[in-house]
Amino acid sequence: MTHHVEDTRVIAEDAPQYNATLVKRVDHTADLASIWVKLDGDPVPFEPGQYMTIGVFADEKLWQRPYSVASAPSVAGTEGYEFYVRLVPVIRFTTLLWRLQPGARMRMIGPKGKFMLEPEDSRTHLYVSTGTGLAPFVSMIRETQAQGSPRKTVVLHGVSHASDLGYRDELEAWERDGSYPVRYVPTISRPFDPRNEGWTGRTGRVEAVVAEVCRDLSLRADRTVVYICGNPEMILNVERALMDRGFPEFHVKKELYWPKGKSPTA
Ligand SMILES: Cc1cc2nc3c(=O)[nH]c(=O)nc-3n(C[C@H](O)[C@H](O)[C@H](O)COP(=O)(O)OP(=O)(O)OC[C@H]3O[C@@H](n4cnc5c(N)ncnc54)[C@H](O)[C@@H]3O)c2cc1C
Repeated sequence: MTHHVEDTRVIAEDAPQYNATLVKRVDHTADLASIWVKLDGDPVPFEPGQYMTIGVFADEKLWQRPYSVASAPSVAGTEGYEFYVRLVPVIRFTTLLWRLQPGARMRMIGPKGKFMLEPEDSRTHLYVSTGTGLAPFVSMIRETQAQGSPRKTVVLHGVSHASDLGYRDELEAWERDGSYPVRYVPTISRPFDPRNEGWTGRTGRVEAVVAEVCRDLSLRADRTVVYICGNPEMILNVERALMDRGFPEFHVKKELYWPKGKSPTA
C-alpha cells in the first residue's frame, strides 16, 4: 500500500518521526479544541514556540499538518504534547482530526521551527496573536514559569467572539494572582455581533489596537521584543503598525500559520 504525503509545505522531511496516540481532547467551542498527544516512547525535547507535525493515516494517505505546541516541554512525558486547533471548514486535515477520539493513532514529526525565546532576554515580551496563534505563547509562559525565570509579558490576543478567547481563565489567573508577570489584553473584532453582548473589554482588530496598547502600557521600542503568530495578513499589519512606532525590524519575530493571500477555500 502506498501512502501519499498530502501536504509538504512545511513538512520536516529531515526531522525524526514518532508513533503516538491521541490521549485527550477538550472541545472549547464547535470549532476550537485542545488535543493532547503522547509519544509511544520517551518524549522528545523541544523549545517553547516550536511546532510538531501531526500525521494521521486516512483513505490510504498520510495527512500531515504542523501545529505549535501549547504545553511546556517539561510535561511532554506525563501529559503529552498539547495543541490548540481550529476546525477549518474545508475537507482536509482538521475535518479529519475532528472525527478522532482518544486512542487514535498518529505520527509525530519534529520538533521544528525557529520561533523561540532568546536566552536571558530581560526586555518586555509582547506576544501578539489571533485565534490559535496564541498556542506557542502559552508554551513560552508555562515553561518559563516552570523554570522559575518568568519574563515580563504582555499578551495581546484577538478573536471574533469572546467565546473564542482560549486559555482566558489561565491568563487571567496568572495576571490576577501575580503568579506570572503578564498583562492580558484580549480584544474582540466584532463588538456589535449579538454573540459578544455584554463584552466590556477592548474592541478592534489587533493591528488596529497594537499601537494604543504600546502607548497605554508604555512599551518602548528599545526595551520590547515582539513575537507575532497566526494569520499572515494580521502579522504584516501588526508589523507595519509597530514599525510606524519606531520598533526596529529585528525586534519583531513572526510565525505565519499559512501563506499570505490564502483564504480557507482558495
Ligand atoms: C508553523 C505552523 C504552526 C501552526 N500551528 C497551528 C496551531 O497551533 N493551531 C492551528 O489551528 N493551526 C496551526 N497551523 C495551521 C495548520 O497547520 C493547518 O493549516 C490548519 O489546521 C488547517 O488545516 P487544514 O488541512 O484543515 O486546512 P489547510 O489546507 O492546511 O488550510 C486551509 C486554509 O485554512 C486557513 N487556516 C489554516 N490554519 C488556520 C487557523 N489556525 N485558523 C484559521 N484559519 C486557518 C488558511 O486560510 C489556509 O489557507 C500552523 C501552521 C504552521 C505553518
